[in-house]
Amino acid sequence: MKKAPTKAMKSPRTQAIHGEFLSKSWEFSHHLIPPMTASTTFRLESLERGAQGFSTFGAPQDSAKPIWIYDRLEEPTTKMLEDQLALLEKGECAVAFGSGMGAIASTLMSLLKAGEKVVAHKTLYGCTYSLITNWLPRFQVNHELVDINDLKGLEKHLADSKTRVIYFETVSNPILEIADLEKIASLVKAANKKRSKENQIYTVVDNTFATPWALRPLEWGIDFVIQSLTKNISGFGTEMGGAVIAPKSFESMLRVARKDFGAIIHPYSAWHILVYGISTQAIRFEQQQETALKVANFLEKHPKVQSVTYPGLKSHPQYKLAKKYLKSPEGQFAPGTMISFQLKGDMKKCQKFVDDIAKTSYSITLAVSLGLTKTLIEVPGFMTHSAIPDDQKDHCGIDPRAIRLSIGLENAQDIIEDLAGALKKV
Ligand SMILES: *Cc1c(COP(=O)(O)O)cnc(C)c1O
Repeated sequence: MKKAPTKAMKSPRTQAIHGEFLSKSWEFSHHLIPPMTASTTFRLESLERGAQGFSTFGAPQDSAKPIWIYDRLEEPTTKMLEDQLALLEKGECAVAFGSGMGAIASTLMSLLKAGEKVVAHKTLYGCTYSLITNWLPRFQVNHELVDINDLKGLEKHLADSKTRVIYFETVSNPILEIADLEKIASLVKAANKKRSKENQIYTVVDNTFATPWALRPLEWGIDFVIQSLTKNISGFGTEMGGAVIAPKSFESMLRVARKDFGAIIHPYSAWHILVYGISTQAIRFEQQQETALKVANFLEKHPKVQSVTYPGLKSHPQYKLAKKYLKSPEGQFAPGTMISFQLKGDMKKCQKFVDDIAKTSYSITLAVSLGLTKTLIEVPGFMTHSAIPDDQKDHCGIDPRAIRLSIGLENAQDIIEDLAGALKKV
C-alpha cells in the first residue's frame, strides 16, 4: 500500500477533499472514493477475537487491525466520517449519530447525573429546549436558562456545586446571537481549578449555524462541539446526521452511549455526508454567505422591514464578537448563511407575507431545516421553536413575528426579486 502523504501542511479546504488520504478504517488501496458499506454484522475469525471486540469496545481501535462486530457498535464508513469531522473541528475525536438531536441527547445524558444541573443559554433550538426542560427533569437533572453572555450571572452558576454542564449555541438559532466563547471558557476553567477531578464543569456548544468553516470552538477552549450534520455539512437535504467532537478521554463513554441509546447514523447517510457533503461544504458555504449579505442588505434598506439580524451587518448588536469569532480557516470574515428579520406591522402581515412566498415564490420555499442548496423560509415561533411555551417565548428571545431565512445557492438577484415581490403585496 502506498504510504499516505502528510496532511499536516494542507489547509482545511484541501483536507475537506482528501481527509486522512488513506483511511485506517477500510483495507482498500485502489478506491479513490471509499466504498459504501452495508453490512449490519461482521464476520469474526475466532471466538477470541469476537470476545476481544466486545470487551474492548469503545476504546480507540487498533487501527492496523480494527475489529468490526455489529453496525450499532462501530462500522467503517461512519468511522471515516468521524475522522473527517474531528479534523475539520480540530478535535481529538468525533462520534457520529443519526441526527443532531441524537448527538445532543446522548452527550447530555453522558455528562449529567441526577441531582446535577445544566446551565444553558435562554435561546435554544426548539427540540434542545424540550430535551432540557421536559426530559432531563424526569431524571432529576435540573436546568437554568440564562443569558450566557452575562458573565457576572454565569459566575454565580459556576460557583454552584451542582452545575456540571454549560450549554449554548455558538450562533443562536434563530436569532443569531454570538456567544463570547473565549470569556465563557476562561470562567469555566477558573471555576474548575477549585473543583475535584470528578466534579469538573464541561462546556458543550452547538456549532450547527456556524459550521467548522466559520468557527472552531475548541480553539477557544470549549470542551465539546455538536453539529447537526443534517444542515450545512450535509447540505443537499437528503441525509440526517449529527456528531459530537470530544476529548479523547470521552470517546469510550460516548460510543457506549450511542450503542445503548441506539442513535446510530445509517452508513448510507454517513457515506453521502462524507463523500458529497464535507468535500463541497466550504464552497457552498462561501457562495451562500455571499448571497446572504446581499439579501440582508436589501432587507435592511426596505421600508416595510422593521429589523434585520445578520452577523455580517454592522447593525448586528454583537458585530464586534462576530468579527472576532466568525472566521474561515483561511482568515476571512464568515458571518454565515442565516438571516432573521421582522416586518413592520402585526402578525397578520407576517403571515400574509410568508404565505405569499409559499404560494408564489420560485426560489424560496416555506420549509424548516437550513444550510441547504435551496433557500428556505420559516417562522420559528410557530414552527422550529414551537416547543417553547408561549409564556416563555419572550424570555427565550422568540418574537412570534420573526422570520428566518436560510440562503441557498440560487442567484442572489432571484431571491431578492422574490422577496421584493411578496413585500410589495403586504
Ligand atoms: C436542526 C438543529 C438541531 C437538530 O438537528 P437534527 O439533525 O434535526 O436532529 C440542533 N441544533 C440546531 C442549532 C439546529 O439547527
